[in-house]
Amino acid sequence: MRYYVLTLFPEMVEQGLKTSILGRAQSQGLISLKAVNIRDFSENKHGHVDDYPYGGGAGMVMQPGPVYRACEAVEAEIGHGARVIYMTPQGRVFDQNMAKELAKEEELIFLCGHYEGIDERVLEQKVTDCVSIGDYVLTGGELPAMVMIDCISRLVPGVLNNDQSAEIESFHDNLLEYPQYTRPEEFMGMRVPEVLLSGHHANIERWRREESIRRTLERRPDLLPDAHLTDREREYLDGLQKG
Ligand code: SAM
Repeated sequence: MRYYVLTLFPEMVEQGLKTSILGRAQSQGLISLKAVNIRDFSENKHGHVDDYPYGGGAGMVMQPGPVYRACEAVEAEIGHGARVIYMTPQGRVFDQNMAKELAKEEELIFLCGHYEGIDERVLEQKVTDCVSIGDYVLTGGELPAMVMIDCISRLVPGVLNNDQSAEIESFHDNLLEYPQYTRPEEFMGMRVPEVLLSGHHANIERWRREESIRRTLERRPDLLPDAHLTDREREYLDGLQKG
């Protein structure tokens, strides 16, 4: 997977993604990241890339020209069409299913706005997807792009040591993950659930599924209508709901 991030703050993106699992994935060549400074495509002698909004109002708007040229340069480097994702609070809200879909691409271009956003005309020309990371407003699109890159990269084969661990986490099957425990067996008088010490894999698996269902009901009941449950698990959920 090759990521390109069009931004006014390339160092923020590069620094933020160079440690831990994503840093290792880059060193191993499993993913690559190029942060492209939109300011480099300014034709203004002072390097300005923003101006006042037509019609008045607060703040500044990023001009279309530098964004257009930055995008063209990246598209020329890629050599074929790639999705251009504009980070915006007005977009479709990012989730695990979208991450799975985007992980199938070979390249992704992220466009990060700042100030009041970007001139609409270049968005109409270049953007294929408008994506939000939630119903709140941030100062820029860099953190949202980094959130998406982190999440998508975990689904790229080889990035996680154990490919299975991305498969059985929260949102798989539209359920939250079961509670996790590690050593010691007893902490402040609280013991690890006995079933996890039993070595009985079928019972452990059943306990985990039931805990996932219980936890999803408690914390995110909105996920349950689309959860993939067996008949027995549906009965278990009915039992929980009846109290
Ligand atoms: N005036 C814009 C509006 O009301 O829709 C908000 C602009 S915001 C202050 C500046 C930039 O931050 C946006 O262009 C976008 O790239 C990014 N941004 C802010 N919140 C975001 C969110 N929830 N998801 C994705 N990007 C966001």
